[in-house]
Amino acid sequence: MQIASKEVSATSLVKAALEKAKRCENYNIFISLNEEAALKKAQEIDEKIKKGENPGKLAGVPYALKDNFLSKDGNTTAASKILEPLKSPITATSVKKLEDEGAIMIGRVNMDAFAHGSSTENSYFGPTKNSKDEARVAGGSSGGSAVAVALDIVEFATGTDTGGSIRQPASFNGVYGFKPTYGAISRYGVVAMASSTDCVGFFAKSAEDIDLLMSIAAGQDPYDLTTLPNYYETSEVKDVKKVGIIKDFDVKGEIKEALEKEVEDLKAKGIEIVELEMPTLKYALAVYYIVVPAEISSNLSRYDGIRYGYRNKDAKSLDEVYGKSRSDGFMPENKRRIMIGNFVLSSGFYDAYYLKAQKARTLIIKEYEKAFSKCDFILSPVTPNPAFKLGEKTSDPVSMYLEDVMSVPINLAGLPSLAFPVSETKDGLSLGLQLIGPRRSDKSLLDFAERRLK
Ligand code: GLN
Repeated sequence: MQIASKEVSATSLVKAALEKAKRCENYNIFISLNEEAALKKAQEIDEKIKKGENPGKLAGVPYALKDNFLSKDGNTTAASKILEPLKSPITATSVKKLEDEGAIMIGRVNMDAFAHGSSTENSYFGPTKNSKDEARVAGGSSGGSAVAVALDIVEFATGTDTGGSIRQPASFNGVYGFKPTYGAISRYGVVAMASSTDCVGFFAKSAEDIDLLMSIAAGQDPYDLTTLPNYYETSEVKDVKKVGIIKDFDVKGEIKEALEKEVEDLKAKGIEIVELEMPTLKYALAVYYIVVPAEISSNLSRYDGIRYGYRNKDAKSLDEVYGKSRSDGFMPENKRRIMIGNFVLSSGFYDAYYLKAQKARTLIIKEYEKAFSKCDFILSPVTPNPAFKLGEKTSDPVSMYLEDVMSVPINLAGLPSLAFPVSETKDGLSLGLQLIGPRRSDKSLLDFAERRLK
């Protein structure tokens, strides 16, 4: 990561990033640019460098912010109409930590509205295009973040991963994407999707850069009681001997070839490959699409046309304000999840769906624990297929959900996972794989990726 110094000024780094962002407009990456504030901050950093003061570990590094992070810079929309005019009075803890080290946000990037989706097509601002093929999806929900890094506009981008939203777009665009252990980074100031699986994480061009970002962003936060005491910097780096592969996934085509090649490379480096039987993982997608909508329906109930953002002006009664504002303000996928969530939580259905799903979730967590008694890390595809065509799955939500089959189990168990680029398909599309570790093995995972997977 190039940081500002006496040789390269923060102002020149930021100007170059903003110019590139404008040249790449056709990809529809940015919802808003943060031009004025970014240039002002760059000047301040250059002043500090001139005076010989410490400008921070990320001095002048331009970055993109997924538009579901609150900060005093710009408006947070979460790519929805209902939040479009939101000016936040607070800054997310993670954003504050990055900015305190001199990182400069050049703009807010596109995503599926409220992070519901796998393609960035559910954005109120239109889809982001894939960096390798503009006729294909960027992946999602953090599509803008992945493409901003893939096209070299910024050095890194923030993302959130509730069921794959960092790893899948990273893999569709040939960059690194890291979802840390649940609770590693504060969720304070991030628009909530499903609070029991939401994770803040990063997109970057190497595992080493992500390591630096983790060392800055991780840690306990009094504003988020689910944050873990900081284990990141202090955890020991494991000597990795065994890597597991999951027999139960149906891996095909060029993704299969990429996985087999990676396995051969690991073997050549002296790593033992362990085959794992994980039969409960086949229930993970069903569990995810019960637990997550349940939490979504609760988290999105606060957007009522009264407290935040958009309000329908024609409403004549309080009920109409709620109804019309929510009808106009949410995207169809948001509404679908609110309805599913309310259904699985309603009396008469709660035991059959929500409670059962929570029990199955415990079995999934236990299955990973068992797997990690046999190996240090697990190697897996991120998705069953490379980036699909824009519009290909929009009319069939279940086919879109099925793309998440290999990413969501990890979120249900709260595990860290790194998506890393491996190769390209014959058509030039990016292929990635993910490396999954036990809880709190984040540092080892990044270290292994940096030293052994290259
Ligand atoms: N694609 C998944 C979903 O739509 C994951 C989204 C996410 O991680 N935010 O739920």
